[in-house]
Amino acid sequence: MTKFDGDSASVTLSVEEEPPDVPLGSLSFLPVLTPADGTAVGRVSAGRIGSVGPSLFSPPRYPRGNPQTRAFRKAFFAQATDQEWNDWRWQLRNRIRKLSQLEQMLVLSDEERAALTEGGSMLPVGVTPYYMSLISRDDPNQPLRRTVIPTTKEFHRSHGEADDPLGEDGHSPVPGLVHRYPDRVLLLVLDFCSTYCRYCTRSRVVGHGELIPNESRLNKALEYIAQTPAIRDVLLSGGDPLAMSEERLDWILTRLREIPHVEFVRIGTKMPAVLPQRITPQLCRVLRKFHPLWMSLHFVHPDECTPESQRACARLADAGIPLGSQTVLLKGVNDNVPTMKELVHRLLMMRVRPYYLYQCDPISGSSHFRTSVAKGLEIIEGLRGHTTGYAVPNYVIDAPGGGGKIPLQPNYVVGRDGDDLLLRNYEGKVFRYPDPVVS
Ligand code: SF4
Repeated sequence: MTKFDGDSASVTLSVEEEPPDVPLGSLSFLPVLTPADGTAVGRVSAGRIGSVGPSLFSPPRYPRGNPQTRAFRKAFFAQATDQEWNDWRWQLRNRIRKLSQLEQMLVLSDEERAALTEGGSMLPVGVTPYYMSLISRDDPNQPLRRTVIPTTKEFHRSHGEADDPLGEDGHSPVPGLVHRYPDRVLLLVLDFCSTYCRYCTRSRVVGHGELIPNESRLNKALEYIAQTPAIRDVLLSGGDPLAMSEERLDWILTRLREIPHVEFVRIGTKMPAVLPQRITPQLCRVLRKFHPLWMSLHFVHPDECTPESQRACARLADAGIPLGSQTVLLKGVNDNVPTMKELVHRLLMMRVRPYYLYQCDPISGSSHFRTSVAKGLEIIEGLRGHTTGYAVPNYVIDAPGGGGKIPLQPNYVVGRDGDDLLLRNYEGKVFRYPDPVVS
């Protein structure tokens, strides 16, 4: 539940969740107070990644960040040193979760204030200082603001919505493990995220503090995987797996790599967008030991593609990790061709292949984010043929009830004329292709 108690000046969210740094049994996982990363590749010009220029190679000790972030930091975290600001654990400790902080940083709309004071949502509120720096102070309709600040619209449940629309709980042989496809499993390693997305498919789970990455729970999941030879692909998700320490990630990945039939490991994360400081050289050193390791990054808007996130993606790519993006189609956020085109272009520039465009799942209280399917098809039609093929994601609906991903695309086959198939190209011109009917 997102809930505030008491007066607005001092209230805190009722759900208390902290970075889950629980020691794993006998293993000694000392808290990693990662020093701020002073080994940045160099200065990146202010603004979005399109402005990265020759100054890339003039090295300050810490990245300066984009101008908006610098202004925010000066206004609200003036005491923070460069070392602190660039330390992902400092960012986690200083997440914005209190109404009193939000009131200071944003001019709240009535809908936002009511949502924050009345509660009623499944999902807690939490935003890293870095991501908050990208949010408009005055405009409640700014795309990034809509994705992380709740409104009372979350309290309305519409037709077809459910807390677990994908039926994951029904495909969970052990807690935190979803086995829906024969050869793949989803391992929910924890339920903590540095920043909570208001449209999260796992609102019923994330931020509730119930899925902790402790040894006994993870051992059960790992044993299930080890005893199921059909599983060749494991996706670590949550919550955000990169919220764990390097030691814990190392332990989990080592255990997975000890299972002979696990060929392929993926990690789903939003860190490069909401907490790019997390992508440290130390983390990359751990991850690169476990190839083939792929990553699905969660970006929804071009404003997330900052010099900081570009640097994070560059480090992951330099560590040999293939990067794909998963974008949720969101009304008022990215539901038009120009915005989506800008996003996919910026992702390619960050060495991230736009992979999936998801129709927003019918999670409870999400109707204000959901577009029509026709809108998604219109966006794909506006990309296919109009930009680089690598930039065009697969538009999919995750079928309610656990049916899996169903791909959707505009219909380019317009008919048949005898032995010719009639095909429509991206300009709407019709072409014949010889395709004899086999009798
Ligand atoms: S980062 Fe992923 S798991 Fe976390 S709140 Fe956002 S959508 Fe949900």
